[in-house]
Amino acid sequence: MGVDRRQFLKIASLSTLLGIGGKAVFELLAPGELEAAVPLMEGKRWAMVIDMRRMTDEIMDECQKACHSVHNVPNFGDPKVEIKWIWKEEFEHAFPDQENEYVADEVKHRSYLLLCNHCSNPPCCRVCPTGATWQREDGIVMMDWHRCIGCRFCMAGCPYGSRSFNWGDPRKAPKELSPDFPANPEFPTRTKGVVEKCTFCDERLAKGELPVCVEAANKKKEDLLIFGDLADPDSNVRQALRKHFTIRRKPELGTNPNVYYIV
Ligand code: SF4
Repeated sequence: MGVDRRQFLKIASLSTLLGIGGKAVFELLAPGELEAAVPLMEGKRWAMVIDMRRMTDEIMDECQKACHSVHNVPNFGDPKVEIKWIWKEEFEHAFPDQENEYVADEVKHRSYLLLCNHCSNPPCCRVCPTGATWQREDGIVMMDWHRCIGCRFCMAGCPYGSRSFNWGDPRKAPKELSPDFPANPEFPTRTKGVVEKCTFCDERLAKGELPVCVEAANKKKEDLLIFGDLADPDSNVRQALRKHFTIRRKPELGTNPNVYYIV
C-alpha cells in the first residue's frame, strides 16, 4: 500500500496529539594486529556487556563526550530537545522492572550507562513506514537520514528512549567535543526533522575499530565495556556473560536487548 509523505506527516501529527513524546584483548594489540585478529566486520550478533560495578559517573561522561564528538551530535542547549546517543540514567528509570524496596543500595543509587540496545526483535524497525531504520544481519539497528521523514513512529515504538529527534538544525547547533576524540569531519551531517541514535559505531567497525564508547571507557579501566559477537561461544562477550550475572533493560517486552549490565 503506497502512502505519501503528506499522509505520513499527518499520521505523525496525530501520534503527537496522542501523547507520544517522546584492557579488552583488543586493547593489547596494535591497530594492524587488531584488524587481523578481530574481524569486526564479520560478527554475527553484536552485543555489549557493561560492568557497572566498576563504572563511575566521570567515565560515563567520557563515553558520552567521545560518542557525541565522533558523531558530531548537536547540543541544542535545552534538555527538552536533547539529542543523545548514549547517556546516564538512574536505576529506577533504567530498570523499572527490577525496582523493589530491598534492592541493594549500591545498585539502586548508582547511575547506568544507556544506549540503543540493538534489540534482536526491534519494534522501532517494524513501525518505520519508509524503511529509514532497519536491522543488519549482524544485529545492528541502522538509521538512514535520507529516508527518514520525521514521523517519529520509531521513537514511539522504542520502549527505551534510545532515539532523538532534531527539532532544530543540527548543522547549525554547537557540538559537545571531547579532547581525546575530536569532531569528525567525515561523519555524515543531518538535517532538522530527522531521528538519530547509536549505531554501535558501524562506521568504526567497518574499519576494524571498536565502538568509541568502548575505547573511551577502557582507556580508564580495562574491560569496563566489552563488545563482541554473541553468536560466537568463545567470544569476549560470551565469556563475560558466562562469568557474571547480568541484567538487561525491560526484557519482559520481548525485544531481546543486546546490551547487558553486570550489576
Ligand atoms: Fe530500536 Fe529502541 Fe531497541 Fe534501539 S533500543 S533497537 S531504538 S527498540
